[in-house]
Amino acid sequence: MKRSFEAIVVGAGPAGSAAALTLARAGVDVALVERAAHPGEKNMFGGLLHRMPALEEIFPDFWDRAPLQRHVVKKVLTFMTPERMVNVQYETESFDRTPYNGYTVYRPTFDRWLAEEARAAGATLVTRTTVEDVVREKGTVTGVTVLRDGGPLRAPVVIAADGVLSFTALKAGLRKRTFDPGEMAVGVKALLEMPKDVIDDRFGLVRDQGLSNEFVGCTGGVRGGGFLYTNYDSVSVGLVVHIGSLRDSGKTPYDLMNEFVTQPQMAKLLRGARLLEYSAHVIPEGGYDMIPGLVGDGILVTGDAAGFCYATGLNLEGINLAAHSGVLAAQAALEAREAKDYSARVLKGYERRLKESFVLKDLKTFRHAPKMLHIDRLYVEYPEIFCDVMERVYRIDGTPKESVSSLFLRLAKEKVGAGSLAKDAWTAWRAV
Ligand SMILES: Cc1cc2nc3c(=O)[nH]c(=O)nc-3n(C[C@H](O)[C@H](O)[C@H](O)COP(=O)(O)OP(=O)(O)OC[C@H]3O[C@@H](n4cnc5c(N)ncnc54)[C@H](O)[C@@H]3O)c2cc1C
Repeated sequence: MKRSFEAIVVGAGPAGSAAALTLARAGVDVALVERAAHPGEKNMFGGLLHRMPALEEIFPDFWDRAPLQRHVVKKVLTFMTPERMVNVQYETESFDRTPYNGYTVYRPTFDRWLAEEARAAGATLVTRTTVEDVVREKGTVTGVTVLRDGGPLRAPVVIAADGVLSFTALKAGLRKRTFDPGEMAVGVKALLEMPKDVIDDRFGLVRDQGLSNEFVGCTGGVRGGGFLYTNYDSVSVGLVVHIGSLRDSGKTPYDLMNEFVTQPQMAKLLRGARLLEYSAHVIPEGGYDMIPGLVGDGILVTGDAAGFCYATGLNLEGINLAAHSGVLAAQAALEAREAKDYSARVLKGYERRLKESFVLKDLKTFRHAPKMLHIDRLYVEYPEIFCDVMERVYRIDGTPKESVSSLFLRLAKEKVGAGSLAKDAWTAWRAV
């Protein structure tokens, strides 16, 4: 195997493949190194792929060629208790017109396809190869060592796209630790087979329309939330829970998943579905404030490895930030190639590009979202209050009614207290 390249990308997830594709299309001799037998084999996510302008620019027929499931026209936020649900639903014809606002996808298929596109553009895809360290010469990264015979791989620039636990960024000294349970969540997901016509009828969809549903109150008091996404003939159902909070609860993800899918209204939505696959993965949750060093001499960090992922309770975005940032990292590497200088001073063009793009702007806008997700009352008390309000609004039994506003305030004061209500409202306001 060839061991010397003009660039090495570590990890063939969306960030790495987008970077390798960009470099290969510009004529760069780039290696895309992946530990799995094929890209996507070890990768999972909830299921929603959003727009990624930088990738669409270098790959104009991206949406025509990509292996997609359904385009999402219906967005639902559900507050849930063990017996009840309140849904807030947004549906619009504009999401049903191209360019669509997002698609459900299967990661094993999608990641494999994107890496193959990079290979077709000229990248060397090296699979079954785990990067274990970076090679340095006079403080500059000049390659990587791999868990495989034959010595290191060399290149004047390395792009770390090896995901949330990025050892490459750690070994390059750009992050202090791989894992902080205070800044990480774990996602668990069940892929459930369901016939297309059943999905269409049950979720009110036609053609290849899809639904994304986020849930609050489904985690038994553990900080986190749930999701349900419709694929063509399956649904993805899962939970994302804060690792520190899960540990403190003494519960397992399996306990929580079982409670979630057997909640009576959920059980109705999922009845008859057959389990195809179960998977789990870690997610960076710290947002803007956990972003590590992004640039060093001969190295750039991108995607989840750089903590580019955030959740607001309404949306979870990561794959779009990963692919977009992968392209921007590759563009900075191209600039360095042109200048024949891969020092951090030139590679800093990556940070400038990120600051100008939605990636850092959105992470900054929602930098307080992690604080909101740490309001423990969000996971039990508030869903109960919303359900109690709806119950009393809709239950007509001949007793006098309270106005909705005074009912809400009275219940909130009873369950959480006026001080906590004001504090939580302020935290949530700042977060979103
Ligand atoms: C349960 C769950 C639900 C999610 N839902 C959504 C969603 O609906 N929408 C959304 O936009 N985002 C979602 N995300 C986040 C999204 O999946 C990530 O942000 C995205 O996958 C990051 O892409 P990446 O390329 O940076 O990293 P990854 O996808 O993690 O890819 C990293 C790649 O590097 C490889 N690798 C790792 N270490 C090494 C090594 N040492 N050597 C060689 N290869 C290595 C891995 O095998 C992998 O292929 C979700 C995440 C989870 C866990």
